[in-house]
This record gives sequence, C-alpha cells and structure tokens, in this order.
Amino acid sequence: MTNKIIPFVDLKLQHDLIKTEIQQAVETILQQGDFILGKALGEFESAFAQASGAEYGVGVASGTDAIALGLQACNIGAGDEVILPVNTFVATLIGVLQAGAKPILIDCDPQTALIDLEAAAKAITSRTKAIIPVHLYGQMVSPIQLLDFADTYKVLIFEDAAQAHLAHRDGYQAGCVGTAAAFSFYPSKNLGALGDGGMLLTRDAEIAKKAARLRNYGSSQKYVHIEMGTNSRLDTLQAAILLAKLPHLSQWNRDRLIIAQQYDLELAPLAAVGIHPIQNQSGEGHVYHLYVIKVDDTCPIERQQLQAELTQAGIQTGIHYPIPCHLQPAFTYLGYQKGDFPHAEKLAEQILSLPMYPGLSHSQAREVVAAVSNVLTIQYSK
Ligand SMILES: *Cc1c(COP(=O)(O)O)cnc(C)c1O
Repeated sequence: MTNKIIPFVDLKLQHDLIKTEIQQAVETILQQGDFILGKALGEFESAFAQASGAEYGVGVASGTDAIALGLQACNIGAGDEVILPVNTFVATLIGVLQAGAKPILIDCDPQTALIDLEAAAKAITSRTKAIIPVHLYGQMVSPIQLLDFADTYKVLIFEDAAQAHLAHRDGYQAGCVGTAAAFSFYPSKNLGALGDGGMLLTRDAEIAKKAARLRNYGSSQKYVHIEMGTNSRLDTLQAAILLAKLPHLSQWNRDRLIIAQQYDLELAPLAAVGIHPIQNQSGEGHVYHLYVIKVDDTCPIERQQLQAELTQAGIQTGIHYPIPCHLQPAFTYLGYQKGDFPHAEKLAEQILSLPMYPGLSHSQAREVVAAVSNVLTIQYSK
C-alpha cells in the first residue's frame, strides 16, 4: 500500500507535459508586446469557435462575464425572465442578475442532476425570454429536448458550457445548440488558463459584435462609445496559453472518459450499499469535468462521513455544490425557501466528487474505489 495522497485535481501534471509550448507562447507575447486584444486573442477565438463548431468566439475575462455580457448581447435584461437550474455553480445565477434579468430557478432530474425540462415548462410566463441549460459536470442537457422546448415556448437557448468544453450529444456540440453559449477557462476547467478567462460562442454575427463591444467599454472604435460597456477582455497572454493547450483538449477529455468508465465499472457493485454515480445519458460525449457519486439513503453512512474517512485515507474529494443557489445567504431576497427544490436539495446532501483529471492513473482510480469500498465494508461489519 502507498501512503501517497491522491489529489482531487492535479494541474501540474498537464502543465509539465507542455511546459515548453507554454513558455514559447509566453515568450512570443513578451516579444510582441500586444497584451490587450492582441493577435493571439483573435487566433484563439477562431480556433476555439471552430473546435466547438460555432461561428464566432468573443474572449472575455471570465465565465461569469461570458454569461452576463452574453445575455446582454442577446438583448436580455430588465423585465425579462431567464430560466436556469438551481443546482449550478452560483456564477450562472450571478450572470443572469448582472445582465439585469429576473432569474427563475428550476429543480433538476435526480438521476442526471441536469435541469428538469418538465419543471421548466411549468415556469414559463409571457416574460420568459431564455433558458440556460447548464451542461453540468461535463454532460450536455439533451439538445433534442432543448430545441423542442425552445420551439414550443419561443424562448432563446443560452448554454452554460463552463464545464463542457467539446462535449457532444445526439450529434450536437456544446456551444452550438442555442443562440449563444458561455465557456470558462478557470484553471481547473477541462480547458484552463493560468488565471481567469472565458468566452462567448455564437453563430450570430450581431451578437458577437455586441459582445465584443460590451467587453471593451461599449466601443468598437477607439474613444467612441455607442453603449454602456465594461472592461472584460481575455488577456492576449492567456489566449496564447490556451491556444497552446487547445490541441491537447480532445486527448485530455478522452483520458477523463476512460477514468470515468473505470469508476463506473468498479463502483457498480457498491450500488448494493447505496453508492450511485450520477447517470451518464450521453455516452462518449460526456467530458467528465467532474465524476460525481450519490451516497443515498440506503447507505450505512452519510456523505459527510464518507468524505471525512476518504480524506483520512489520503483521497481528496469535493462537493459540487453543497448549497443550492436558492439557499445561499446572498440570494434569500429572491424569495425561495428550503423545500422548493427537493431533488437539488437532496443531491446537495448526498453528492461527492471523486478525483478526476487527465493523468490520474488506472491504479490510482482503483485505489479510490478500494478506499470507498473499504470505508463501507468496515461500516457494515460494525
Ligand atoms: C466555472 C463556472 C462558471 C463561471 O466561470 P468563471 O470563469 O469562474 O467565472 C459558470 N458556470 C458554471 C457551471 C461553472 O462551472
């Protein structure tokens, strides 16, 4: 037995692998000195849009801004209602609020943790302008069902693809199902910068142009400001680094999928003791930003204890996310209450994210499963 810690993520592994490429990218930007809206930004915007099957990419300072500015670029704001899942990273909600729209929170499917479109249908009003499907954990919300939803209720689809770079499902790629899509390049995302970053993808030239203005003080021509904007550009330096990392993304996603398939297989016997992976309904198109299990009511121990014992055993885990958006102190003013979203609330108590990153070895994944199994066996024999 080793006593080495298995981390939740290990970014050093991927960066060591491509260190010279990153150093070259940094060196080039130092030489060129075009740090803001430079050449490498345009190149990365095109390359990422093309890789994702979209027409235009607009690099911004973060995934949060990609949502906020992206919605504004789609002309969504004050007086408009925007539907989003309650079990997402809080940035989805913040983006909607920053755009000035009214967020309408929706519960999730307990098996996939993805937004429940039947519940969303019941929340439609005459003011509903858009739905934000969050492709949570790297799995896309069904594009066919989404397009049907958008068509039935005449709303725009704005994807939160912050966890789903190059994910696909039913022949659709993440980022091209709807009118526009937001991506994050936060360091630990499937494609991560060495700092913050984000991008809006769209097939609509006008939306792309407006987003490009909004991120640059509402200006497309120096010192002429035709609308209210902000300063939210993706640094040329980060774009150059992301451009160097992009060719590796497909392989990294495949590595994640293989680890997930191993987890699926080896965790299967633990279903008998209440351990269930969040369901993959999109096959090989799932990019496993996170691998999440549920510790259900039939399990002899609670999630909190399992997590504590895994930590003891040197296995680092995470919880994504422990508090659903409607129960966050900052958002009580929205008027939701405990009990409003039973599936999401239950998941928040039962989910646990296992180590997942490109470079996590077969034997490490096996150790993770063995540790989970071990904790439960000891528990049963008590
Ligand atoms: C990371 C993330 C965001 C926000 O991206 P930042 O770059 O951190 O601002 C938004 N939505 C989801 C689902 C995310 O995981």
